Amino acid sequence: MVDTGRLPHALLIEGPSGSGKFALARATAQYLHCSARTADGEPCGVCPACLQHQGFNHIDTVFSFPVYKKGGSSALSSDFQRDFCDFVSESPFMDYGQWLERIADANAQPRIYVEEGEQLIRRLGFTAHGARYKVVLFWLPERMMEQTANKLLKLIEEPADDTRLILVSNDPRGILPTIYSRTQRITVSRYTDREIQEYLMRARGVTDGAAAEASRLAEGDMNRALGLLAHTSQPDSIRLDMFIQLMRLAYMRDIVALRTWGNNLAASGREAMTAFFDYAARMLRENYIYALRVPQLNCMTPEEEQFSSRFSRFVNERNIEDLMRVMDEARVDVAANANGKIVCFDVAIKMILLLKR
Ligand SMILES: [Zn+2]
Repeated sequence: MVDTGRLPHALLIEGPSGSGKFALARATAQYLHCSARTADGEPCGVCPACLQHQGFNHIDTVFSFPVYKKGGSSALSSDFQRDFCDFVSESPFMDYGQWLERIADANAQPRIYVEEGEQLIRRLGFTAHGARYKVVLFWLPERMMEQTANKLLKLIEEPADDTRLILVSNDPRGILPTIYSRTQRITVSRYTDREIQEYLMRARGVTDGAAAEASRLAEGDMNRALGLLAHTSQPDSIRLDMFIQLMRLAYMRDIVALRTWGNNLAASGREAMTAFFDYAARMLRENYIYALRVPQLNCMTPEEEQFSSRFSRFVNERNIEDLMRVMDEARVDVAANANGKIVCFDVAIKMILLLKR
């Protein structure tokens, strides 16, 4: 579309969650601005415009996405710019649940507010700075308030020549019909199992078997595959058992039994150790949240929750950061080839001290 000058004024990229649509939208904007496009249809990656895009600071490119402020008062995307860039950088697959976790509290309903529409119209009223085109990338237009949509309608109906809107939607049925009907649409389909498996192996260093298993369960959703991966190679039930043992023995200060516990974990191999420390960090966080009594933010199996109902009182604001750090450092040490038995025993001893805080 860009090559033939047919990029529409309002392009809607629709398709299931976790299918890389926003990455495609960003690449389109970058390609549009790139001053040295390659012959095979890629942005060059090294011109000033490309570098600005990669650093989220291209002056003629605006991100607009659902945000939330405590008490439900209105907010602007620009207030959350830093959070959004970090979020996109960490994973290009745009897991809405993770976005919610990052910016909101339990019952939040992030929206694209009407003030956002007003600000966009003001910004787009100026001519483009460095580039030929001003681009607005909307993430999840289905979360746009009706008044916002009404404000933006004019932009879509009588677009300025130098403005392009790219909308990225997981649920196009939720977009107001007045907006939807005025967009030109392309559909991105879910990833195949094979694509997910290859990405996990190549980009995330996952083993063949674990990648195959995660891709089968993910049903084309990369976010789900990545979520599953944190818990592969051993069922969580084994890790929960190890976690419960660790915390019980640390509570009883049973040094001899803790040493045996550490030796057993070390014997399971580096991958299993890494997975355990990941799991332990997640459980500690879940227990901290559990103690805060915000069930909507908890994500535990019934077995995990049963243990947490008794254990969570030991995890509090005085020790949570250090507890998480211990697990994190252990993971790094294991990756750096440290002696497994020593790492595990060290974690066990630190638990004794930290649980007393
Ligand atoms: Zn370039």
